[in-house]
Amino acid sequence: MVKRNPHFSRLSKNYLFPEVTRRARSFENLISLSIGDTSEPIPHAITEAMKKAATQLGSRKGYRGYGAEQGNAALREKISEVIYKGKISADEIFISDGAKCDIGRLQILFGSDKTIAVQNPAYPVYVDTGLMLNQKVVYMECLPENNFFPNTFPDADLLYLCSPNNPTGSVATHAQLENLVQWAKKSNTFIIFDAAYSGFIQDPTLPESIYEIEGADEIAIEVSSFSKLIGFTGVRLGWSVIPKNMTYAEGGSVHDDYTRVVTTFFNGASNISQAGGLAALDHPDEIAKLSTYYLENARLIKKALESKECRIYGGENAPYLWVDFGKIESWDLFQMVLEKTKLITTPGSGFGSCGEGYLRFSAFGNRTQILNAVKRIETQWPEQLSP
Ligand SMILES: *Cc1c(COP(=O)(O)O)cnc(C)c1O
Repeated sequence: MVKRNPHFSRLSKNYLFPEVTRRARSFENLISLSIGDTSEPIPHAITEAMKKAATQLGSRKGYRGYGAEQGNAALREKISEVIYKGKISADEIFISDGAKCDIGRLQILFGSDKTIAVQNPAYPVYVDTGLMLNQKVVYMECLPENNFFPNTFPDADLLYLCSPNNPTGSVATHAQLENLVQWAKKSNTFIIFDAAYSGFIQDPTLPESIYEIEGADEIAIEVSSFSKLIGFTGVRLGWSVIPKNMTYAEGGSVHDDYTRVVTTFFNGASNISQAGGLAALDHPDEIAKLSTYYLENARLIKKALESKECRIYGGENAPYLWVDFGKIESWDLFQMVLEKTKLITTPGSGFGSCGEGYLRFSAFGNRTQILNAVKRIETQWPEQLSP
Protein backbone atom coordinates (compact mmCIF):
# COMPACT_ATOMS: atom_id res chain seq x y z
CA MET A 1 0.00 0.00 0.00
CA VAL A 2 1.00 3.61 -0.54
CA LYS A 3 1.49 5.80 2.53
CA ARG A 4 -0.85 8.70 3.05
CA ASN A 5 0.36 12.23 2.41
CA PRO A 6 1.39 13.05 6.02
CA HIS A 7 0.20 16.67 5.76
CA PHE A 8 -3.39 15.47 5.49
CA SER A 9 -3.28 14.31 9.11
CA ARG A 10 -3.11 17.97 10.16
CA LEU A 11 -6.51 18.70 8.63
CA SER A 12 -9.24 18.77 11.22
CA LYS A 13 -12.19 16.56 10.38
CA ASN A 14 -14.69 18.33 8.14
CA TYR A 15 -17.11 18.71 10.99
CA LEU A 16 -19.23 21.82 10.66
CA PHE A 17 -21.78 21.19 7.91
CA PRO A 18 -21.98 17.38 8.33
CA GLU A 19 -22.72 17.96 12.03
CA VAL A 20 -25.32 20.64 11.18
CA THR A 21 -27.02 18.12 8.87
CA ARG A 22 -26.79 15.31 11.42
CA ARG A 23 -28.41 17.38 14.16
CA ALA A 24 -31.18 18.64 11.87
CA ARG A 25 -32.06 15.16 10.57
CA SER A 26 -34.66 14.26 13.16
CA PHE A 27 -36.76 17.41 12.67
CA GLU A 28 -39.51 18.13 10.17
CA ASN A 29 -40.61 21.36 8.46
CA LEU A 30 -37.09 22.70 8.53
CA ILE A 31 -36.06 26.00 6.96
CA SER A 32 -32.36 26.46 6.35
CA LEU A 33 -30.71 29.79 7.06
CA SER A 34 -27.42 27.98 6.89
CA ILE A 35 -26.72 27.83 3.17
CA GLY A 36 -23.74 29.48 1.54
CA ASP A 37 -25.25 28.77 -1.85
CA THR A 38 -27.41 30.92 -4.11
CA SER A 39 -31.08 30.00 -4.49
CA GLU A 40 -32.56 32.24 -7.20
CA PRO A 41 -32.55 31.38 -10.93
CA ILE A 42 -29.99 32.85 -13.32
CA PRO A 43 -31.51 35.73 -15.34
CA HIS A 44 -32.86 34.76 -18.77
CA ALA A 45 -30.48 36.94 -20.84
CA ILE A 46 -27.56 35.05 -19.33
CA THR A 47 -28.93 31.52 -19.76
CA GLU A 48 -29.77 32.47 -23.37
CA ALA A 49 -26.15 33.46 -24.00
CA MET A 50 -24.99 30.11 -22.62
CA LYS A 51 -27.53 28.25 -24.78
CA LYS A 52 -26.27 30.06 -27.84
CA ALA A 53 -22.66 29.23 -26.98
CA ALA A 54 -23.56 25.56 -26.52
CA THR A 55 -25.45 25.43 -29.83
CA GLN A 56 -22.50 26.96 -31.68
CA LEU A 57 -20.28 24.14 -30.45
CA GLY A 58 -22.53 21.75 -32.36
CA SER A 59 -21.82 23.33 -35.75
CA ARG A 60 -18.72 22.97 -37.92
CA LYS A 61 -18.39 26.73 -38.17
CA GLY A 62 -18.93 27.47 -34.49
CA TYR A 63 -16.93 24.65 -32.95
CA ARG A 64 -13.93 25.65 -30.77
CA GLY A 65 -11.55 23.49 -28.75
CA TYR A 66 -9.23 24.80 -26.06
CA GLY A 67 -9.61 28.52 -25.51
CA ALA A 68 -6.98 31.17 -24.79
CA GLU A 69 -4.85 30.16 -21.79
CA GLN A 70 -5.82 33.07 -19.57
CA GLY A 71 -9.45 32.98 -20.70
CA ASN A 72 -11.63 34.60 -23.33
CA ALA A 73 -10.08 37.96 -24.27
CA ALA A 74 -13.44 39.74 -24.50
CA LEU A 75 -14.37 38.56 -21.00
CA ARG A 76 -11.03 39.68 -19.56
CA GLU A 77 -11.47 43.10 -21.22
CA LYS A 78 -14.97 43.34 -19.81
CA ILE A 79 -13.84 42.47 -16.25
CA SER A 80 -11.05 45.03 -16.55
CA GLU A 81 -13.55 47.69 -17.61
CA VAL A 82 -16.64 46.89 -15.50
CA ILE A 83 -15.11 45.53 -12.28
CA TYR A 84 -11.76 47.35 -12.17
CA LYS A 85 -12.61 50.54 -14.11
CA GLY A 86 -9.38 50.08 -16.07
CA LYS A 87 -7.14 50.01 -12.97
CA ILE A 88 -6.25 46.41 -13.81
CA SER A 89 -5.52 45.45 -17.40
CA ALA A 90 -7.04 42.47 -19.21
CA ASP A 91 -3.71 40.63 -19.35
CA GLU A 92 -3.49 40.68 -15.54
CA ILE A 93 -6.77 38.72 -15.27
CA PHE A 94 -6.89 34.91 -15.32
CA ILE A 95 -10.35 33.41 -15.90
CA SER A 96 -11.00 30.27 -13.84
CA ASP A 97 -13.59 27.73 -12.77
CA GLY A 98 -14.13 29.54 -9.45
CA ALA A 99 -12.48 31.33 -6.56
CA LYS A 100 -12.14 28.22 -4.41
CA CYS A 101 -10.21 26.45 -7.16
CA ASP A 102 -7.99 29.51 -7.59
CA ILE A 103 -7.17 29.58 -3.88
CA GLY A 104 -5.83 26.03 -4.27
CA ARG A 105 -3.78 26.96 -7.34
CA LEU A 106 -2.31 29.99 -5.60
CA GLN A 107 -1.11 27.77 -2.77
CA ILE A 108 0.76 25.61 -5.29
CA LEU A 109 2.27 28.79 -6.72
CA PHE A 110 3.78 29.79 -3.36
CA GLY A 111 4.61 26.34 -2.05
CA SER A 112 5.22 24.59 1.24
CA ASP A 113 7.80 26.67 3.07
CA LYS A 114 5.41 29.57 3.70
CA THR A 115 3.55 31.01 6.67
CA ILE A 116 0.00 32.15 6.00
CA ALA A 117 -2.00 34.57 8.14
CA VAL A 118 -5.73 33.95 8.25
CA GLN A 119 -8.64 35.78 9.88
CA ASN A 120 -10.33 34.16 12.88
CA PRO A 121 -13.18 33.52 12.08
CA ALA A 122 -12.68 32.62 8.40
CA TYR A 123 -13.88 30.67 5.39
CA PRO A 124 -12.13 27.29 5.96
CA VAL A 125 -10.58 26.95 2.49
CA TYR A 126 -7.51 29.15 3.17
CA VAL A 127 -6.37 27.08 6.15
CA ASP A 128 -7.16 23.67 4.67
CA THR A 129 -5.36 24.31 1.36
CA GLY A 130 -2.39 25.64 3.35
CA LEU A 131 -2.30 22.59 5.60
CA MET A 132 -2.40 20.23 2.62
CA LEU A 133 0.86 21.85 1.49
CA ASN A 134 2.32 21.82 5.01
CA GLN A 135 2.31 25.62 5.30
CA LYS A 136 2.40 27.20 8.75
CA VAL A 137 -0.83 28.94 9.74
CA VAL A 138 -1.12 31.93 12.08
CA TYR A 139 -4.45 33.48 13.05
CA MET A 140 -5.62 37.08 13.29
CA GLU A 141 -8.39 37.74 15.83
CA CYS A 142 -11.31 39.60 14.27
CA LEU A 143 -13.65 41.17 16.81
CA PRO A 144 -16.58 43.60 16.72
CA GLU A 145 -14.48 46.41 18.28
CA ASN A 146 -12.57 46.69 15.02
CA ASN A 147 -15.41 45.89 12.61
CA PHE A 148 -14.07 42.28 12.44
CA PHE A 149 -10.87 43.50 10.78
CA PRO A 150 -7.56 42.26 12.30
CA ASN A 151 -6.11 44.60 14.95
CA THR A 152 -2.54 43.61 14.14
CA PHE A 153 -0.88 41.70 11.34
CA PRO A 154 1.51 38.87 12.27
CA ASP A 155 4.73 37.88 10.52
CA ALA A 156 3.69 35.92 7.45
CA ASP A 157 4.48 35.40 3.79
CA LEU A 158 0.85 35.44 2.68
CA LEU A 159 -2.09 37.17 4.34
CA TYR A 160 -5.64 36.22 3.41
CA LEU A 161 -8.38 38.80 3.72
CA CYS A 162 -12.02 38.28 2.74
CA SER A 163 -14.11 41.42 2.26
CA PRO A 164 -17.13 41.54 2.24
CA ASN A 165 -16.51 38.82 4.77
CA ASN A 166 -17.89 35.34 5.06
CA PRO A 167 -18.94 34.68 7.86
CA THR A 168 -19.03 38.11 9.60
CA GLY A 169 -20.73 40.11 6.83
CA SER A 170 -18.37 43.02 7.53
CA VAL A 171 -16.55 45.07 4.89
CA ALA A 172 -13.05 46.51 5.35
CA THR A 173 -12.88 50.29 4.97
CA HIS A 174 -10.49 52.26 2.74
CA ALA A 175 -8.48 53.31 5.79
CA GLN A 176 -8.17 49.71 7.00
CA LEU A 177 -7.01 48.46 3.61
CA GLU A 178 -4.57 51.36 3.21
CA ASN A 179 -3.06 50.41 6.53
CA LEU A 180 -2.81 46.77 5.47
CA VAL A 181 -1.22 47.56 2.10
CA GLN A 182 1.38 49.84 3.71
CA TRP A 183 2.21 47.18 6.28
CA ALA A 184 2.41 44.43 3.64
CA LYS A 185 4.89 46.46 1.57
CA LYS A 186 7.10 47.13 4.58
CA SER A 187 7.04 43.54 5.81
CA ASN A 188 7.33 41.83 2.41
CA THR A 189 4.02 40.03 2.69
CA PHE A 190 1.72 39.25 -0.20
CA ILE A 191 -2.03 39.80 0.33
CA ILE A 192 -4.57 37.40 -1.14
CA PHE A 193 -7.82 39.34 -1.22
CA ASP A 194 -11.04 37.34 -1.59
CA ALA A 195 -13.63 39.62 -3.20
CA ALA A 196 -16.24 36.93 -3.95
CA TYR A 197 -18.97 39.06 -2.33
CA SER A 198 -17.98 42.47 -3.75
CA GLY A 199 -21.22 42.59 -5.77
CA PHE A 200 -23.16 43.02 -2.52
CA ILE A 201 -21.55 46.33 -1.51
CA GLN A 202 -24.18 49.07 -1.43
CA ASP A 203 -22.30 51.76 0.49
CA PRO A 204 -20.34 53.73 -2.15
CA THR A 205 -17.65 54.69 0.38
CA LEU A 206 -16.56 51.06 0.85
CA PRO A 207 -13.84 49.53 -1.37
CA GLU A 208 -14.99 46.78 -3.75
CA SER A 209 -11.46 45.78 -4.70
CA ILE A 210 -8.02 45.87 -3.05
CA TYR A 211 -6.78 47.73 -6.15
CA GLU A 212 -8.70 50.83 -5.06
CA ILE A 213 -5.74 51.22 -2.68
CA GLU A 214 -2.66 52.97 -4.08
CA GLY A 215 0.26 50.56 -4.53
CA ALA A 216 -1.76 47.39 -3.91
CA ASP A 217 -0.82 46.14 -7.37
CA GLU A 218 2.74 45.56 -6.11
CA ILE A 219 1.78 43.13 -3.35
CA ALA A 220 -1.83 41.92 -3.74
CA ILE A 221 -3.61 39.18 -5.64
CA GLU A 222 -7.39 39.34 -5.85
CA VAL A 223 -9.60 36.28 -6.31
CA SER A 224 -13.21 36.75 -7.31
CA SER A 225 -16.12 34.86 -8.74
CA PHE A 226 -19.40 34.88 -10.64
CA SER A 227 -20.78 32.39 -8.09
CA LYS A 228 -22.46 34.81 -5.69
CA LEU A 229 -22.55 37.66 -8.20
CA ILE A 230 -25.04 36.06 -10.58
CA GLY A 231 -25.91 32.60 -9.25
CA PHE A 232 -23.06 30.73 -10.99
CA THR A 233 -22.22 28.40 -8.08
CA GLY A 234 -23.10 25.43 -10.30
CA VAL A 235 -22.07 26.94 -13.65
CA ARG A 236 -18.51 27.55 -12.31
CA LEU A 237 -16.72 30.75 -13.32
CA GLY A 238 -14.31 33.03 -11.48
CA TRP A 239 -11.10 34.93 -11.95
CA SER A 240 -7.88 35.96 -10.29
CA VAL A 241 -5.87 39.11 -10.77
CA ILE A 242 -2.08 38.72 -10.71
CA PRO A 243 -0.71 42.22 -11.34
CA LYS A 244 2.34 42.48 -13.58
CA ASN A 245 3.96 44.72 -10.96
CA MET A 246 4.25 41.88 -8.46
CA THR A 247 7.78 40.55 -8.08
CA TYR A 248 9.42 38.07 -5.71
CA ALA A 249 12.01 38.98 -3.06
CA GLU A 250 14.79 37.76 -5.36
CA GLY A 251 13.17 39.35 -8.42
CA GLY A 252 11.16 37.63 -11.14
CA SER A 253 7.52 37.95 -12.11
CA VAL A 254 4.74 36.32 -10.09
CA HIS A 255 2.50 36.71 -13.16
CA ASP A 256 4.89 34.61 -15.28
CA ASP A 257 4.89 31.80 -12.72
CA TYR A 258 1.12 31.84 -12.37
CA THR A 259 0.81 31.59 -16.15
CA ARG A 260 2.96 28.46 -15.86
CA VAL A 261 0.69 27.02 -13.10
CA VAL A 262 -2.44 27.63 -15.16
CA THR A 263 -1.04 26.20 -18.38
CA THR A 264 0.41 23.17 -16.60
CA PHE A 265 -2.66 21.90 -14.79
CA PHE A 266 -5.71 23.96 -15.61
CA ASN A 267 -6.25 24.79 -19.33
CA GLY A 268 -9.06 27.28 -18.77
CA ALA A 269 -12.71 27.63 -17.84
CA SER A 270 -15.59 26.23 -19.88
CA ASN A 271 -16.32 28.31 -22.98
CA ILE A 272 -20.06 28.06 -22.22
CA SER A 273 -19.59 29.48 -18.70
CA GLN A 274 -17.44 32.26 -20.12
CA ALA A 275 -20.19 33.23 -22.58
CA GLY A 276 -22.52 33.44 -19.57
CA GLY A 277 -20.04 35.59 -17.64
CA LEU A 278 -19.71 37.99 -20.54
CA ALA A 279 -23.50 38.31 -20.79
CA ALA A 280 -23.73 38.86 -17.03
CA LEU A 281 -21.37 41.84 -17.15
CA ASP A 282 -23.46 43.24 -20.02
CA HIS A 283 -26.47 43.21 -17.63
CA PRO A 284 -25.41 45.06 -14.48
CA ASP A 285 -29.12 45.66 -13.75
CA GLU A 286 -29.66 41.89 -13.39
CA ILE A 287 -26.66 41.59 -11.08
CA ALA A 288 -27.99 44.42 -8.93
CA LYS A 289 -31.47 42.88 -8.85
CA LEU A 290 -30.16 39.60 -7.48
CA SER A 291 -27.96 41.16 -4.82
CA THR A 292 -30.70 43.50 -3.61
CA TYR A 293 -33.06 40.52 -3.45
CA TYR A 294 -30.74 38.68 -1.04
CA LEU A 295 -30.00 41.86 0.92
CA GLU A 296 -33.74 42.38 1.39
CA ASN A 297 -33.84 38.85 2.85
CA ALA A 298 -31.05 39.90 5.21
CA ARG A 299 -32.97 43.02 6.22
CA LEU A 300 -36.10 40.99 7.00
CA ILE A 301 -34.21 38.49 9.17
CA LYS A 302 -32.33 41.29 10.90
CA LYS A 303 -35.56 43.15 11.68
CA ALA A 304 -37.01 40.02 13.28
CA LEU A 305 -33.88 39.47 15.38
CA GLU A 306 -33.71 43.08 16.56
CA SER A 307 -36.24 42.51 19.33
CA LYS A 308 -34.24 39.54 20.69
CA GLU A 309 -31.37 39.36 23.17
CA CYS A 310 -28.44 39.63 20.74
CA ARG A 311 -26.15 41.89 18.76
CA ILE A 312 -26.45 41.77 15.00
CA TYR A 313 -23.63 42.53 12.57
CA GLY A 314 -23.38 42.42 8.78
CA GLY A 315 -26.23 41.96 6.29
CA GLU A 316 -26.01 45.45 4.78
CA ASN A 317 -23.22 44.93 2.26
CA ALA A 318 -22.99 41.14 2.47
CA PRO A 319 -25.51 38.27 2.44
CA TYR A 320 -24.64 37.11 5.97
CA LEU A 321 -25.76 38.21 9.44
CA TRP A 322 -23.28 37.50 12.21
CA VAL A 323 -25.18 37.44 15.47
CA ASP A 324 -23.63 37.56 18.94
CA PHE A 325 -25.64 35.93 21.73
CA GLY A 326 -23.09 36.59 24.46
CA LYS A 327 -22.04 33.82 26.78
CA ILE A 328 -23.94 30.87 25.31
CA GLU A 329 -21.87 28.49 23.17
CA SER A 330 -22.57 28.36 19.45
CA TRP A 331 -23.63 24.70 19.31
CA ASP A 332 -26.03 25.23 22.25
CA LEU A 333 -27.47 28.26 20.47
CA PHE A 334 -27.80 26.24 17.27
CA GLN A 335 -29.63 23.47 19.13
CA MET A 336 -32.03 25.81 20.99
CA VAL A 337 -32.96 27.64 17.80
CA LEU A 338 -33.36 24.36 15.92
CA GLU A 339 -35.60 22.76 18.55
CA LYS A 340 -37.88 25.77 19.04
CA THR A 341 -38.11 27.21 15.52
CA LYS A 342 -36.96 24.39 13.20
CA LEU A 343 -34.59 26.89 11.65
CA ILE A 344 -31.12 25.71 10.67
CA THR A 345 -28.38 28.27 11.32
CA THR A 346 -24.59 27.90 11.32
CA PRO A 347 -22.66 27.83 14.61
CA GLY A 348 -20.08 30.62 14.56
CA SER A 349 -17.48 28.48 16.33
CA GLY A 350 -17.26 26.38 13.14
CA PHE A 351 -15.40 29.28 11.49
CA GLY A 352 -12.85 29.67 14.28
CA SER A 353 -12.58 30.23 18.03
CA CYS A 354 -13.50 33.93 17.72
CA GLY A 355 -16.88 32.82 16.38
CA GLU A 356 -17.80 31.19 19.69
CA GLY A 357 -21.08 32.62 20.98
CA TYR A 358 -22.20 33.60 17.46
CA LEU A 359 -24.60 32.18 14.90
CA ARG A 360 -24.35 32.93 11.17
CA PHE A 361 -27.65 33.57 9.38
CA SER A 362 -27.45 33.32 5.60
CA ALA A 363 -29.68 35.57 3.47
CA PHE A 364 -29.60 33.17 0.51
CA GLY A 365 -33.00 31.60 0.04
CA ASN A 366 -36.35 32.18 -1.57
CA ARG A 367 -38.47 35.03 -0.16
CA THR A 368 -41.39 32.77 0.77
CA GLN A 369 -39.09 30.62 2.90
CA ILE A 370 -37.43 33.67 4.42
CA LEU A 371 -40.82 35.16 5.38
CA ASN A 372 -41.76 31.87 7.03
CA ALA A 373 -38.46 31.90 8.88
CA VAL A 374 -39.12 35.46 10.03
CA LYS A 375 -42.51 34.43 11.39
CA ARG A 376 -40.89 31.63 13.37
CA ILE A 377 -38.28 34.01 14.81
CA GLU A 378 -41.11 36.34 15.86
CA THR A 379 -43.37 33.70 17.40
CA GLN A 380 -41.33 30.63 18.41
CA TRP A 381 -38.01 32.08 19.54
CA PRO A 382 -36.35 30.32 22.53
CA GLU A 383 -37.11 32.06 25.82
CA GLN A 384 -33.48 31.88 26.93
CA LEU A 385 -32.58 34.13 23.96
CA SER A 386 -35.36 36.67 24.53
CA PRO A 387 -34.98 39.83 26.60
C1 LIG B 1 -18.67 31.21 -2.02
C2 LIG B 1 -17.33 31.74 -1.77
C3 LIG B 1 -16.37 31.77 -2.79
C4 LIG B 1 -16.72 31.34 -4.18
O1 LIG B 1 -16.14 30.16 -4.55
P1 LIG B 1 -16.38 29.60 -6.03
O2 LIG B 1 -15.37 28.50 -6.13
O3 LIG B 1 -16.09 30.72 -6.97
O4 LIG B 1 -17.79 29.12 -6.13
C5 LIG B 1 -15.12 32.30 -2.51
N1 LIG B 1 -14.82 32.78 -1.30
C6 LIG B 1 -15.72 32.78 -0.29
C7 LIG B 1 -15.35 33.36 1.02
C8 LIG B 1 -16.99 32.24 -0.50
O5 LIG B 1 -17.88 32.22 0.52
